[in-house]
Amino acid sequence: MRNRIFIKLLAAFLVVILAAAVIFDVTIGRAWQASLRAEIERTLVEKTELVAHRVETDRSHSLADIAAQEGHAAGARVTIIDPTGHVLADSEANSANMENHASRPEFSAALAGTIGRNERRSTTIGTPFLYVAVPISGGAVRLAYPLSDVEAVSTELRHNLEWTTAAVFGFAFLVAAIAASWSARRLERIVEVAGRIADGDLHARILEKSPDEIGRVAGAIDKTAVRVEQSFAEVRSSQRQLETLLNSMQDAVIAVSDDGLVQWANQPMDRLVPQRTRLHQPVVETIRDPDFLATVREATATRKVKTARATSIVPGRTFDVTAAPLPGGGAVAVLRDLTETERVEKTRRDFIANVSHELRTPLTSIQGYAETLLDSTPDHGAPNREFLEIIRKNSGRMSRLTEDLLTLARVESGETRFDVEPVPPSEILHDAEESFREIARAHGIDLHINIKDAPVPETLPMVLADREAIHQVFSNLIDNALKYGATGGRVVLGARTVPHAVEFFVQDFGAGIGSEHLPRLFERFYRVDKARSRESGGTGLGLAIAKHIMLAHGGSIRAESELGHGSTFLFALPNA
Ligand code: ADP
Repeated sequence: MRNRIFIKLLAAFLVVILAAAVIFDVTIGRAWQASLRAEIERTLVEKTELVAHRVETDRSHSLADIAAQEGHAAGARVTIIDPTGHVLADSEANSANMENHASRPEFSAALAGTIGRNERRSTTIGTPFLYVAVPISGGAVRLAYPLSDVEAVSTELRHNLEWTTAAVFGFAFLVAAIAASWSARRLERIVEVAGRIADGDLHARILEKSPDEIGRVAGAIDKTAVRVEQSFAEVRSSQRQLETLLNSMQDAVIAVSDDGLVQWANQPMDRLVPQRTRLHQPVVETIRDPDFLATVREATATRKVKTARATSIVPGRTFDVTAAPLPGGGAVAVLRDLTETERVEKTRRDFIANVSHELRTPLTSIQGYAETLLDSTPDHGAPNREFLEIIRKNSGRMSRLTEDLLTLARVESGETRFDVEPVPPSEILHDAEESFREIARAHGIDLHINIKDAPVPETLPMVLADREAIHQVFSNLIDNALKYGATGGRVVLGARTVPHAVEFFVQDFGAGIGSEHLPRLFERFYRVDKARSRESGGTGLGLAIAKHIMLAHGGSIRAESELGHGSTFLFALPNA
């Protein structure tokens, strides 16, 4: 890893340094050579002008001498020509043997009055020269400088430059290697610490102090690690709190993954099962109760809260199981032990049933004697008759109350066995109508079966019902409709199909019930108008009994009402 970063950095530096060296070498070398050439040319022009001046002014020496002397002094070849191009003197050749020079580019420029320059191979000597010619009166003077000298200087210059570049390159390479190694080491540390953090070591820190980019990356990683460590600690602390809370509960709690493995369980759960909870094992190895398992499976599959009663988790104990789906899949189940609650409930029911039963005989006796006394009391003994009437009325009420209490206790406890069979809804409806038609008429109320807005009862599917019990439900509802909805003048019975059931209804057109009372209407002893209920001989138990009969049938019951527009009581019986 380190080598890879180091080599990449070094390679990048190397490319940059090489490019810089090449550019430096080429540009500086060229510029230097150009300036050297310009300098040589300038000096040659100056020297040529000086020689020209001497040729024009020196009358004491021959042209050949001047050419020889000046050529020696300048380290260049000197050639003097007349205006026709005929060579008058030359420092290195015999002028007599030399051809006419008027056509040489530099001489032709000088003879035209300007300074002539040219660079070529000499036909006389055969080597490359730089020629400069200046005009003089009566011809022109030319100096020729061998370019081999210039090239020698240039070569030396290039060598110097190359050495310098190599030295600079070497130094730069050393600095680059140190910088690359330093950066690579810092990056390596970052990678190493990041790896440790990823592996779960949240205490690992890079601790870079440098303010550069690498330092800033290191700082950001350190900061992230601190944050993650803090969040982790918070999560762990709240997890511990939750565990403590769940362990201190009385209910047993167990979490199951969507593939049916136990994920977690609280201590009450551990205490509940003799073999203790088997974590990460199929839940069936911990709890075998089929109702419990089905509830957990359903909650997992449907993502909805499901409840059930389980009786075989611990022999002799009943549990209420509530399974709720977990956000990440699977479900959590809460097991509440109902054994004690059910025992208390049963005791309460038994007590009520016993008291009611015990009161039955004395109450019948009181009622009987009051009636006998009433029969034997003459009309003129009016005050006594009035007292006896009160005794008879109240003992009758108490008798009804105990009867209703007994009925309710028996239905609730399951003691009353319902003889459930497929029954045509029309039969149930006609029975109810026949039983109450005359009573209703006596109250001045019209009781009839609705066939206008509801289907003809004969067309409805069979329902599962105990005829007598359902007749009692109808009796309670019609009785209430006659008592509390009499002002409407009519009571309508009917039935219609709903999904998987037939819904029967009793509708009156009386005063109706306020919506605030509807949710509590089926509670025992709940009365909307207490005085009216008592006066009409009601016990406050009629609807509670109807509700329990319906529950025992696997059906449901509800009320719809609007003040001033009457009430409708509806109950549904499952299809046969
Ligand atoms: P009760 O013996 O008092 O009639 P129920 O349990 O049968 O007891 O009814 C509970 C209460 O519901 C009644 O006291 C009455 O106030 C109200 N109620 C029941 N049916 C009707 C109805 N058809 N119209 C108006 N109020 C009703």
